[in-house]
Amino acid sequence: MPKESRWQLLRTQSGRRLEEALQNGNLGGKVRVEDSNRSEVEWYAYPDGDFAAARLTKRPVLVLSQTCDVQNKDYIQVAPVFPAPPADVERLSGGNEFYSAFYLRPHPPEFDHSFADLERMQAVHKSYIRRPLPGVHFRLTDAKTRDLQRFVTRYFGRPNSFDSDTDRVPRTGTYLCVDCFYFDGRVMSRPRTEGEEFGICPACRGTKWVIQGHPRPPLTVFDRVKIAISIFRRPNPSRHS
Ligand SMILES: [Zn+2]
Repeated sequence: MPKESRWQLLRTQSGRRLEEALQNGNLGGKVRVEDSNRSEVEWYAYPDGDFAAARLTKRPVLVLSQTCDVQNKDYIQVAPVFPAPPADVERLSGGNEFYSAFYLRPHPPEFDHSFADLERMQAVHKSYIRRPLPGVHFRLTDAKTRDLQRFVTRYFGRPNSFDSDTDRVPRTGTYLCVDCFYFDGRVMSRPRTEGEEFGICPACRGTKWVIQGHPRPPLTVFDRVKIAISIFRRPNPSRHS
């Protein structure tokens, strides 16, 4: 969906902000719609924002927040759900091609072949969210939830493990088979060189690898700068946390 080309700011006939006009429960009256690029009106740059003409949609969303966050926080992370174009259903359901599009099989009458668009995940105040069936949980299956974890992980990077189907060795080192450890309590390690393929685990035929831990080298100046930036970017903790 294209982005609006400019902000359409709303003002009262006398040029005041809507917030002032709406004080004390006042309603009614006409507003002016001011093109922010072609009028003298300035965006009201205070933290509480400005009133603008906006396009809103009501649609299914996939809730990504954990249950305890849904119960305790005001804002919930969601990904909007869109109908899957018929020509893309096979590729979407294959699950190895689009990590920003999480396929959902038809669940009539709520939705047909669909996908949750991780590229457009966003925080929504929980008062805007309504369950499809009041009083009934409408959840992904356990297997599908693990799939979603895989998609979200890959969408944001590869912090957990490397997948021999799709990844190459990011840096030379010793790599451990994930399945050997989790399913058999056994360690299978293999030296790997940057750029080569991981290959299948010779012991269990597993395809997931993690790099072996090693003593942390001293931080370089660049590491320190990156850490400083990530601290700077950390959002304020919620009042309800
Ligand atoms: Zn293995």
